[in-house]
Amino acid sequence: ATVESVEHKPKVIVFANQKGGVAKTTTTLNLAVAFAERGHRVLCVDMDPQGNLTMSQGIDPDGLEQSMFDVLVHQLPIREIIRKREIDVACASIDLAGAEIAMSTMIGRERALEKAFRAIKDDYDFICIDTPPSLGLLTINALTAADKVIVPVQCEYLSMRGLIQLQNTLAMIRENLNPHVEIEGILPTLMDTRTVHAKEAIEILEENFGDRVFASRIKKTVRFAEAPVKGMSVLKYEPDGMAAQSYRDLAKEVLTHGER
Ligand code: ADP
Ligand code: MG
Repeated sequence: ATVESVEHKPKVIVFANQKGGVAKTTTTLNLAVAFAERGHRVLCVDMDPQGNLTMSQGIDPDGLEQSMFDVLVHQLPIREIIRKREIDVACASIDLAGAEIAMSTMIGRERALEKAFRAIKDDYDFICIDTPPSLGLLTINALTAADKVIVPVQCEYLSMRGLIQLQNTLAMIRENLNPHVEIEGILPTLMDTRTVHAKEAIEILEENFGDRVFASRIKKTVRFAEAPVKGMSVLKYEPDGMAAQSYRDLAKEVLTHGER
């Protein structure tokens, strides 16, 4: 028997892989929108100075007066920078590139994001965090604030060494900062079903990571490049398309996994 807890806490999911171009940003946004379609209250947090997630909801990072930089470095309440789009977005701009240095001498520098979330814990069911292609302080802040990590991997250029490095970082985070963070799943993305290579890559993944590899797979389609240009998720851009459906399937898989 469990004691019913009255305290609400959003489930915090981080999308991480220190390799760029593996569909971290694409997955953060589209999975978040798929959760929202099912009635969940969702916040996306852009922790990448490149601001791709911010842009993919039609927001110009260069036009922002305040962003995640101010939240992390100046303790600005995160609510003040949240914009309402398909989902809520806590925006990034290029000044975030200076945050790691600005934070380096702060006491509790790894917990700045976790602390920022305290004020909004009643407002959301899911917080989805997009990260830059590195394992620096911005990603460490995300992992410290996280319950789960989803690791998108591009089937074509599978980097086992990269995955092992990410696992080592996670082990360090568990030991020092956040004992309960764990990998929710590894997501094969940018899959070209016509090539044998993609199938081989998935077999290697499954040999090494077993059932931590999601059953969902994201196929390659130009829709994923088109939608962000219009400032939309693929679920809004082409609601009945295969691309949208693949992220709805992933949402279902993550939600049923959470029930187990
Ligand atoms: P990351 O955040 O890991 O750097 P992105 O999400 O920005 O990766 O994706 C890299 C590029 O690949 C982007 O141009 C994006 O539009 C494109 N892309 C992402 N997923 C797919 C897909 N399934 N099929 C085709 N292109 C994709
Ligand atoms: Mg990105």
